[in-house]
Parts: sequence; C-alpha cells; structure tokens
Amino acid sequence: MASKPFASSADISAKQQTLEVLAEGVYALTAEGDPNVGAIEGEDFLVCFEALATPTAARDWLAELRKHTDKPVKYLILSHYHAVRVLGASAFDAEVIVAHENTRRLIAERGKQDWASEFGRMPRLFKDPESIPGLTWPTVTFTDRFTIDLGGERGDLVLQYCGRGHTAGDIVAWLPSQKILFAGDLVEAQAALYTGDAFHRDWAAATLDNVASFGAEQLVGGRGAVARGAEAVSAAIEQTRGFLTTMIEHVETVQKRGGTLKEAFEATHTALAPKFGHWPIFEHCLPFDVARLWDELSGTDWPLIWTAERDRQVWDLLQS
Ligand SMILES: [Zn+2]
Repeated sequence: MASKPFASSADISAKQQTLEVLAEGVYALTAEGDPNVGAIEGEDFLVCFEALATPTAARDWLAELRKHTDKPVKYLILSHYHAVRVLGASAFDAEVIVAHENTRRLIAERGKQDWASEFGRMPRLFKDPESIPGLTWPTVTFTDRFTIDLGGERGDLVLQYCGRGHTAGDIVAWLPSQKILFAGDLVEAQAALYTGDAFHRDWAAATLDNVASFGAEQLVGGRGAVARGAEAVSAAIEQTRGFLTTMIEHVETVQKRGGTLKEAFEATHTALAPKFGHWPIFEHCLPFDVARLWDELSGTDWPLIWTAERDRQVWDLLQS
C-alpha cells in the first residue's frame, strides 16, 4: 500500500473564507474546515477571539473585519496554546492578551516544539511564516472565569474554563445577552477532532456538559460551519462527544485484550470512518489522536510533547 502524505502536508488548496455577522457587532470568520476566528465589538473597542497561524494570515482576517468596524483591538483572547491559533497575535496590536493559566504553562513548556510540529503538519496555514516574531505570550491569565464589560448597553463577554478537554487550558467566550458561544476546539462542527494533547475522558463527560449548559443558540466551533439554533448547537456538541466516546471505547477494548497501538488505530479508524471519515483533517488527526488516547488510558496523565520527529514516527507507524 502506498503511504499517505504526512498529515496535511499535501493539502495546498486555499479554502474559501466567509465573514458571518452573528448578531450586531458579533463576527465569525469560517473557512471550510480551516481554523475559525471571531470578533466582538465593545462600545469603543474590539475583542478578538483567536489569532490564526501567522501575522500575515491574521492581517487578511483583520482587513475583512475592518469593512465592518474600525475600533481598536483591546483584548485578544487565546482559546488555547496551539500554534495555528496563536502565532498571528502580533497583527492585532492588542492591549491585553488573555488566556488560561494552563495555556501559559503549556506555551512555556512546549510552545517551540508545537510550532515546529504544527508547521510540519499544516504548512498551508502558515502564510508567510517569516512574519511570526516569536512565541505568543498572554499578558493576563485566569483559572476559572474572566469577565469583560463591553460598555454601553452591550453587556458582558464571559470567558470561562470548562475543564480539561482539547488541551489542559481551553477557554470559551460567552455572550449571555445574545446567547452566542465561541467554543474554540472544544467543539467541532463537521470537522474531525484533534485530540493529540487532549484529556479524552474529562472532555467527553463534564467538560462538554459544561459547554452544553450555556444553552447557546449560536456556536462557533474551532473548525467548520457556525451552528445556528439550539438544535444545531446541541448536535455539534453531541457529535463531538460521539467522536470521543467511540475513540475511548475502541482504544480501551484493544488495550484491555493486550493488543497493540496499531490495532487500536485500525479499530478506531474502522469505527469512525463511516460517519466522520469525509470530514476535514480526519486522516491527518487520527494517528496523533489514538496515540495520545493510548497514553492517557495507560496512565500518562500529562500529554507527551509532540515534536517534528515524534510526529513522523507515529505517522509512519500508523498511517503507512
Ligand atoms: Zn487546537
């Protein structure tokens, strides 16, 4: 069997980006399965949610946003530490960069390795990689909840930690008055899950319960279309949970009978492919996902660091 091209390295066709106005002053940029970003208008400032992979990529998004508002960016929210979500931060000139305390810890511990790993896996997202000035550091961190008063009659934007999930430090951004939730990579709407740094059991249970408990009527996930309406929001959350519980069930079964990582990968692939196999980045993510879950179920609580070298080893073992 010919080996598959590594991760998303062969994916070179640009995706169509669409700026969607979700409510007055609330914006999402979706891109056919590429990472989503968002923005929320305060009375005299902007809050941006996620920063894309490079300043050049972020400037393209800001140019679209500037057709709607010229307010300065006061807050840039990082939902988690992954390179394709944070390394474009310098383009925003934000006064404050907010993230969870665990995200700061992860950037310090593995930010450089993650940058190299993600660049190798998804080179197309790193538009003009030389424009990245270095790692992105939050200037403010929190552990539970952080509230931004948007000013005027605009109400609050609530940043909330929902528990360990896609990483140890994911946060969501919630607009209570408009019932809009920016969920980051904790929820994917019709895009495969990346779980290579995840805590699968927490994520599939209490963390997604917490995400669901907002009762959102619109949800912007990490990738894929905006879920519009309570029913679509619930479907996106439960689809995410279904991906996780299917993985847990199959990897656990193979591990309990003394099987190998390769067998666990094949069993999980067979179980997920009919429903999820055609979604963006499914083949790319699954080897890393199963490798991390294998470790987690073996008792390795804190995820191992992905490096460009370890990426290739796992890929060659599982996808060739
Ligand atoms: Zn991520």
